[in-house]
Order: sequence, then structure tokens, then C-alpha cells
Amino acid sequence: LTADVGGLRDALRQNHGELLAARGQAEQAEQRIRALEQELAQVSSLVREDQLTGALNRRGMDEAFSRELARADRLGEPLSIGLLDIDHFKKLNDGLGHQAGDQALRHLARVTRDLLRPTDTLARYGGEEFLILLPNTDITEAERILQRIQRELTRQFFMHDNERVLITFSAGVAQRRDGEAEAELLARADQAMYAAKSHGRNRVERG
Ligand code: GH3
Ligand code: MG
Ligand code: MG
Repeated sequence: LTADVGGLRDALRQNHGELLAARGQAEQAEQRIRALEQELAQVSSLVREDQLTGALNRRGMDEAFSRELARADRLGEPLSIGLLDIDHFKKLNDGLGHQAGDQALRHLARVTRDLLRPTDTLARYGGEEFLILLPNTDITEAERILQRIQRELTRQFFMHDNERVLITFSAGVAQRRDGEAEAELLARADQAMYAAKSHGRNRVERG
């Protein structure tokens, strides 16, 4: 009997030791994950990318915008932009939760990027607003591209808890005028976007 108790005690001691070791490893792994997450955030800001959607962040957008303006001037090509804002996004957040809202933003960014050309640029302009830079594109084509994205969103639904959720947006498009500054061009697209809102949403207006 004494031998049995001794063996049991040894086994318990060993189990306890393994538990401590495993706990230590888990803590190390957690620390490593935190470090990697921080690194990712730093790298994302360095590469000027929005972490949630993979679109360019505001800083990346500014750089891309300057580049595209210079390029359009140099080559004498048209440059158009599209500014889109999700419709009633607050309702989606309130109804399905902020996390679902985040997923919806990712969905929209993916659907949009899949339809754009490699030379186009998608940037997260604000919370639920995106800017699209369309080099060598006139206003007619820009309008068509934004409408194509709207159509695609009625095919590729955002899925939440196995339910289809339709995401719509309102957009303004504008083609750059000769020598027009970035701020003016943006302002025209912004006004057009607000016109799209006031004309019933889920539509594209020209600025
Ligand atoms: P409208 O059709 O007029 O644009 O209505 P709206 O509800 O979309 O407009 P509003 O500006 O009132 O709401 C925008 C909402 O977007 C409010 C904010 O909570 C939400 N939002 C902004 N950024 C994020 C984000 O990163 N994640 C999530 N989940 N929600 C966000
Ligand atoms: Mg908004
Ligand atoms: Mg909105």
C-alpha cells in the first residue's frame, strides 16, 4: 500500500509539473501573439494599408492620389474618382452588432477590389466611406464601374448567421478637370455622393 501511495504521489507531481509547463508555454504563446499583432499594426501603417479591409488607409490614399494626378497630367489621360458611402450602416451595426459591421466592410472591400483593374486604387476614406481612383477613365465609364459594384453586391450577399444581408451604397463620381486640385475634385465627388443619398440612396450621381 505504501508503495501504491508513493507511486500515485509521483504521478500527481508529474502531472502538476506538466500543467505548469503547459501554462507557461500558453503564456509565452500569448505574448508572442501580442507582439506579432503589434508588429502587424506597425507594418500596416508603414505600407499604408487599412488593417480591417486591406484597402489603402488615408495616408496611402493621399500618396496614391498625388501619384495619379501627376500621371494623368503627364500622359494627358482622364482621371475619375468614385466616393461611396454605405447606406444605413448605423442600422446594420445596431441590428447585427459592430463585429458584423466590420465583416460587412471587409465584404464590400473584397467585392469591390475583385471588380477593379490592377491600376485602380481602393482606399478607406473614413469609417464606412471608400474612395476609388480610376486612372484613364472618363466619367461615363466611372459611373458604369460603380454601378457594376452595386449590381455585384446584389449577387454576392454579405452572410451573417447564415442570413443574406444586402449591403447598398450611395456614390458620387467625378472626372478631374484640367488642372483641378485634389480637394476640388474630392469636393465634387462628395457633393454628388450626398445627392445620391438625398435622391433615395443605392445610386450613383455625377459631380
Ligand atoms: P447613411 O445612409 O445616411 O449614410 O446612413 P448611415 O447610418 O450609414 O450613416 P452614419 O454616418 O449615421 O453612420 C455611419 C456608421 O458607421 C456609424 C459608425 O458607427 C459606423 N462605423 C464607422 N466605422 C466603422 C467601423 O470600422 N466598423 C463598424 N462596425 N462600424 C463603423
Ligand atoms: Mg458616412
Ligand atoms: Mg453611411
